Amino acid sequence: MLEPPGMRSTALRMMTETALRVVGGHTEAGEVVRIAPAPGGWKLESSPGPGTDWYISPGWVDLHAHVYDGVTVLGVHPDTAGYRTGVTLVADAGSSGEATVDGLARYVVPTARTPVRAWLNIGSHGLVHLRELADLSWLDVDRTLGAIDRHPAFICGVKVRSSGAVVGASGLQPLKLARLVARNARLPLMVHIGEAPPLVEDVLDLLDEGDVVTHCYHGKVGAPWSADGSPSQALRRAIDRGVLLDVGHGGASFRWETAWRAINAGWPPFTISTDLHARNIGGPVRDLATTMSKLIAAGMSLRDVVLCVTTNPGQVVGTEPWVRPGGAVAHATIFRVSDDAPKGRTYEDCHGSAVPVRRCIVPEAVVLRGQFLPCAPDMAPAV
Ligand SMILES: [Zn+2]
Repeated sequence: MLEPPGMRSTALRMMTETALRVVGGHTEAGEVVRIAPAPGGWKLESSPGPGTDWYISPGWVDLHAHVYDGVTVLGVHPDTAGYRTGVTLVADAGSSGEATVDGLARYVVPTARTPVRAWLNIGSHGLVHLRELADLSWLDVDRTLGAIDRHPAFICGVKVRSSGAVVGASGLQPLKLARLVARNARLPLMVHIGEAPPLVEDVLDLLDEGDVVTHCYHGKVGAPWSADGSPSQALRRAIDRGVLLDVGHGGASFRWETAWRAINAGWPPFTISTDLHARNIGGPVRDLATTMSKLIAAGMSLRDVVLCVTTNPGQVVGTEPWVRPGGAVAHATIFRVSDDAPKGRTYEDCHGSAVPVRRCIVPEAVVLRGQFLPCAPDMAPAV
């Protein structure tokens, strides 16, 4: 984004001198701080200013996006999904498999300011095409374990898309093989659920504590929710075992009514992610803040929504604390909350339903690797 000389530094000064309310951090809720330059980076200091509608939180994590830019059909650049929209860590969700992960690590990640982690697809080629598990000869357990050994700090888990359009006649076998790899590597599984076969109940019964179900509020036939918003028996058993619910909005995997009913029946997600990719960045997903605003509209508090993009996904991928001893900021996101959205403003879900949004989250800047970076979305805002 081109700006007149001086514009960026003026905006930066305004942001750092603004009193920021801490949300989702280790400090007391409602504490007011400022962020200030420090040797080698930035630090938090207490601020005498009154609370404003500007907030600071640990850096946002998008647990499910697609950033194998230039290689897969879905990829966007990591900074497009990352710092430009307030995200300080992007987890690529299965764009690469054992045969292609070296290229993601070697040729894409170094071009980005935003740190990237990867869920490794159990399909060897990742998402070069979108039927990656329809032929079992495209899966290789030993080579997938070998790829995890090559990238222990980069790979955060194993991804399997366990729905009919992806697995074809392979049924539950890709999921069982992904589970075998994940348990051997002591990593979590991220499982995409969608249209049958396989039946969602059969998928859920194979998941263990710490595994992640993405697209949890999808609106396809066979979704694991009752009409009153309570989980199906299989989903309830999975949640009781410690399986984690992830939003994974995507282009076809978020139904407003499903989310609203579940959340208001007491079943919020553990993590909020976008499933951002080239085919949904222009809508309905757009960015993580848009998805967060939809979950507020569905009944979650600002604090809970922020926890779902900070502390909670941080537990899954193992992020470092956002404030180091002495106050140095390791990662943070600065954002505003606009409470005065025009009456009638709506966002879209994946089924053409209008989501009535009154509180909009607007990312302004991040602190990342010692740098203060104003956000600059590649795409126009939603409204
Ligand atoms: Zn995805």
